[in-house]
Amino acid sequence: MVGSSLALALAPLGLRTAIVEPVPRAAATQPSFDDRSTALSRSSQRMFEAMGLWDDIVAAATPIFKIHVSDKGRFGLSHIDAAEQGVEALGYVVINRVLGGVLQRALTSVASLDVLCPNRIVAAKLSPERVDVAIEAGDGEHRELSCDLLVAADGANSAVREMLGIAATQTGYGQHAVIGNLLTERPLQNTAYERFAQAGPLALLPVADDRAGFVWTVSEQDVDRVMELDDAEFLRELQEAFGNRLGEFSRVGKRAAYPLILSKAARLTAQRAVLVGNAAHGLHPVAAQGFNLGLRDVAALCDCIADARRHGGESVAAASVDDAAGCSVDCGAASILARYSTWRRGDQKKLVGFTDGLVRLFGDARGPVRALRSVGMLGFDLIPGVRSLFAKHTMGLAGRLPRLSRGVPLS
Ligand SMILES: Cc1cc2nc3c(=O)[nH]c(=O)nc-3n(C[C@H](O)[C@H](O)[C@H](O)COP(=O)(O)OP(=O)(O)OC[C@H]3O[C@@H](n4cnc5c(N)ncnc54)[C@H](O)[C@@H]3O)c2cc1C
Repeated sequence: MVGSSLALALAPLGLRTAIVEPVPRAAATQPSFDDRSTALSRSSQRMFEAMGLWDDIVAAATPIFKIHVSDKGRFGLSHIDAAEQGVEALGYVVINRVLGGVLQRALTSVASLDVLCPNRIVAAKLSPERVDVAIEAGDGEHRELSCDLLVAADGANSAVREMLGIAATQTGYGQHAVIGNLLTERPLQNTAYERFAQAGPLALLPVADDRAGFVWTVSEQDVDRVMELDDAEFLRELQEAFGNRLGEFSRVGKRAAYPLILSKAARLTAQRAVLVGNAAHGLHPVAAQGFNLGLRDVAALCDCIADARRHGGESVAAASVDDAAGCSVDCGAASILARYSTWRRGDQKKLVGFTDGLVRLFGDARGPVRALRSVGMLGFDLIPGVRSLFAKHTMGLAGRLPRLSRGVPLS
């Protein structure tokens, strides 16, 4: 999702780019464009608007007007309201496979892009002048590519990150997210529900056709049992975890389980190489922010490259044939990568801390912590400005935003 988004975001700059992807998008095993629902934040919405893709995405997306947060078995619940925040929606929910379809169609119209799929990067040799990448095609054929900049957008277990010699810390939460869709007796009416239970959070998101997409966190010890339950038993347990606020649950669809791991890369760059998306940071889905954060990586990298091109523009304009296509910036220049790294570190650190803190705070069953949580949730509702600040982070509007995240096109 992040790599395709980057290729599309860079398109107006006229750079020659290639995507290397081992799994065809339409394959059932595609790990990025799968059956999960993703809540897109407002900054992601603005970004897709600036890229001219939003109309196609919103046609298949469901707006969130309210977020409702509660703590199972405790007094204290909270909510965020789009009208109160002065926005038309707090975010939009889209199925990954559907988003993948929109991105894929758009990729076919980028003339300066090669999509090498099914192909896999198997080695990368870095030098001051360029990166040489060894690629293995699906039929076992090998080829080489040279580029100014190599972007690792290959997910939390990034093989490319390892090839770059960048270490990552990976801490398991001892939990899995079980996802799928179901019907609720009372419709969600564009409200996203987040319920904290001892085993972990349970989210219900409004999706198309009045269905609810669920993300249910279960412990590592329990996941196999939960996945093997028949539909009726599964619905009964999920209902027990969520309560009766939305009436009876029914018609659960196909389920899938994802291990939940916090992963953090030690660095964001190497010589002529950079990490974006989950390759840089893998988050718990509790706050629905991983992809949104990855899109802000994309927007910042595009800004750094576009600015470098603009500043070098005068001297470069008449210098080479490439200029006609606006391609003469050296995308892998150390100054570009240093700016990207400094810019992104803060946002990533804040969000990693925020999501990790939420999981730990709400996963703590000790009495005093639970009481504090209730008070915290009340304070969240009552103290002026706290809810607004939280909403700003959730909508991805906090801090210094790159152009695309503000809805400003690159060209
Ligand atoms: C249950 C769940 C719910 C979530 N909900 C939300 C949400 O509501 N909102 C949100 O913002 N985020 C959400 N997230 C997080 C979000 O899904 C991730 O942040 C996002 O998928 C990261 O995208 P990515 O492109 O960086 O990595 P991935 O999606 O992991 O994609 C990596 C790609 O790299 C390819 N690849 C692998 N190896 C190689 C190689 N050697 N060479 C080339 N390519 C390779 C893979 O085939 C894949 O296509 C959720 C996550 C989970 C688990």
